[in-house]
Amino acid sequence: MDTQCAGIGALLKGERDVKSRVMVQVADRRLEMRSLEVPPVGPAEGLLKVEGCGLCGSDIEQFRGHFTAKGIVTYPLIPGHEPVGTLVEVGPQAASAWGVKAGDRVALEPHLSCGLCRTCLSGGYHLCRAVRPVGLPSYGFLPLDFGHGLWGGYSEFIHLHPRTVMHKLPLGMPVALATIYQALAAGIRWAVQVPRTALGDTVLILGCGQRGLGSVVAAKEAGAGCIIVTGLAADAHKLALARSLGAHHTIVADQEDVVARVMAITHGAGADVAVDVVPAAPQPVIHAVEAVRVGGTIVIAGVKGRDTRVSLDTDRVLFKEITIHGVYSQGRAAYEQSLRLLAENTHGLERLHTHEFPLEKAAEALMTLGGEIAGREAICVSLHP
Ligand SMILES: [Zn+2]
Ligand SMILES: [Zn+2]
Repeated sequence: MDTQCAGIGALLKGERDVKSRVMVQVADRRLEMRSLEVPPVGPAEGLLKVEGCGLCGSDIEQFRGHFTAKGIVTYPLIPGHEPVGTLVEVGPQAASAWGVKAGDRVALEPHLSCGLCRTCLSGGYHLCRAVRPVGLPSYGFLPLDFGHGLWGGYSEFIHLHPRTVMHKLPLGMPVALATIYQALAAGIRWAVQVPRTALGDTVLILGCGQRGLGSVVAAKEAGAGCIIVTGLAADAHKLALARSLGAHHTIVADQEDVVARVMAITHGAGADVAVDVVPAAPQPVIHAVEAVRVGGTIVIAGVKGRDTRVSLDTDRVLFKEITIHGVYSQGRAAYEQSLRLLAENTHGLERLHTHEFPLEKAAEALMTLGGEIAGREAICVSLHP
């Protein structure tokens, strides 16, 4: 692999005509294969040869046009914000800032932050909007007409912005396993780091998609004494995986009384921590308020959408002295732990990865993850250019 990378790097430094095969989203549910020029790499930039790109619920929403409808993104653009790959060229300033060299394997953080604003300086760099105040300053969401346009993981190459944050991957880690790094990092930050989950805690995880299952792994790793996961009857395969990853109890939310089950399991005490990772549905947040213990913590991570409101009983929050945290994205500390768990892989994490597709089958990959293809039970899906 090193020789091949050195070859590409040498090619890129000389007179060259390097192109990247890319999948460009041109309209709702429409992706086109194109070939784009790879521009030279500046001193503070780099070039990533994408080995694989994970897909999540945001990719599905983007594919279906939900973000365009809200004015968050504009077509055309190259999607893909969960890429892992090999650095084929790194400018000297970038090498020193990122602590990497050509030939290193890395996973990217999606967000581009300025590092200078009040938000960045107070530690919330993943919430910075200074690099691109309009839209989302993130790989996979920037339009083709922003700079060189090679900002997405549905591509052979990503031309790296100077403000990129990345994490090194072990050379031997299988690509498909590596592509679940963001799902696992989400579970680590949302189910453990933010609520400060401690040894012996009871953790209620509302939702059993990628983020819910990542939360199960994280809670187990943190030493939670009791892990309870909810899902729908249609999620039977995910609930089974949750149990085999370490969940002690699973609840079928469309067939059982979630709060009554949690209270029975905890002998009336309630859960120490409740994590909501269910998109769109407001009910899990209401369940969380009832099912956490007095003094418990709720983490809200499931995006409900602009038209959905949760009717919260604030008196219950007040009398139970519940702490509610909103969370968005993962962050450096969670990525580091995610990559450590993937490298150690003592949990059989490859079981989270169910499907992989070549780049040109991006639409089929998205439909598979989105449950649009009968008979395919997907959890983590990746694209391999
Ligand atoms: Zn994602
Ligand atoms: Zn900033």
